[in-house]
Amino acid sequence: MVIIVKKDTREERIRDLIQWIESQNLRTHVSTGDYSTIIGVIGDTTKLDEDLISGLDIVEGVKRVSEPFKSANRKFHPKDSVIEVGAEHLKVGHGNFALIAGPCSVESEEQIISVARSVKAAGATMLRGGAFKPRTSPYDFQGLKADGIELLLEAKRETGLPIVTEIMNANHLPLFEDVDVIQVGARNMQNFELLKELGKTRKPILIKRGLANTIKELLMSAEYIMASGNENIILCERGVRTFETATRNTLDLSAVPVLHELTHLPVIVDPSHATGVARYVKPMAMAAAACGADGLIIEVHNDPPHALCDGAQSLRPEQFEDVAKAVRRVRAAALAED
Ligand code: PEP
Ligand code: MN
Repeated sequence: MVIIVKKDTREERIRDLIQWIESQNLRTHVSTGDYSTIIGVIGDTTKLDEDLISGLDIVEGVKRVSEPFKSANRKFHPKDSVIEVGAEHLKVGHGNFALIAGPCSVESEEQIISVARSVKAAGATMLRGGAFKPRTSPYDFQGLKADGIELLLEAKRETGLPIVTEIMNANHLPLFEDVDVIQVGARNMQNFELLKELGKTRKPILIKRGLANTIKELLMSAEYIMASGNENIILCERGVRTFETATRNTLDLSAVPVLHELTHLPVIVDPSHATGVARYVKPMAMAAAACGADGLIIEVHNDPPHALCDGAQSLRPEQFEDVAKAVRRVRAAALAED
C-alpha cells in the first residue's frame, strides 16, 4: 500500500501516522519528494482499513500496490535511487554512469594490475574480476578464491578503483569485507539463502538477471535483499538464453526501460556475457548507453587468447578504450537530446 501525504503536512503528524502503521506489525518506507511525501507500507496490509486512512485530513490518497515487489517498486520510491560505492562514495544511478571493467577472472598479480591500470586510464570507474568462478565444468579454472580477492585489493590500492567481485557462498562473506560491490551472478540470482545473507550487510550488491529469468523474477530477487534490510542494489541485464546460437545469450535491452519504469534501482548492462563475442561488445555497449542504462560491466583482458575464462568475449585494453570513448559520445548525444 502507498499513502500519499498532503503537501506541507507537519512532520510530527507524518511521524504519528507511521508509528500507528508500524504498531500493527507492518514496515514503512518513506520517500520525501518535492511535492509530496509517500509512505510505502510493507507487510500484510489487508489488516489496514483503507477508508480510515483515506479519510485522514493529512492524506491525499491511498493506492494498493498489486505487484509482489514492494521495496524495489517505483511506486514506493518515485525518485531514482542513487547507490554509493566505496569510501569515495562513488555514485551509481540517476545520471551517474558506472563503467565497470576488468577480466572475467583474476589470474595473477601482473594481469590484474596491468588491466586495472589500463581500464582506469580509459575511464573505467570500477574494476571487476572474478575470484570465485561459477564454471559449467568442475574441471575448468575455478578462480584464485581468497588469493584472487587479495590481488583485487592490491589493484585497488594501486589505482584507487573500487572493486566488484562475485560471491557464490554466504560462508565466504568475511573475505568480502573490503570488497566495494558484491556481485551475485546469473546462476545465483535465485539462491534465496545467499540473498537473505547479503540483505544483512550494507554493501552494494550487483545482481545479475538469471539465464532464464523474467524481469519480475529479477525484481523479486532484489526484493529478497531489500526485505532483509539492504537497499543498496544495482540490477544487471546480461542476456537471457533463447533459441539463438549466433550469440552466447540474447541481450534483452528492453529490460532497461521496463526496469526503469518498474523500479527506482539503477540498471546496468553486461554486453560481454550477453553476446559472448568481443566484436559485438561495442555496438551493444553503445545501444545500452542510448537506451538509458546506468552503467556497463565489460570484460577486458591483457591477453584474451590466453585468458583462463571467457577469452572470446574479452576486449584488449585498447579496444576497451575505443568502447569507452564511443559510450561517452552516445551519452553526450542522448543528454543533448534531452
Ligand atoms: C561474470 O560476470 O563473470 C559472470 C560469471 O557473469 P554471469 O553471472 O552473468 O554469467
Ligand atoms: Mn566471464
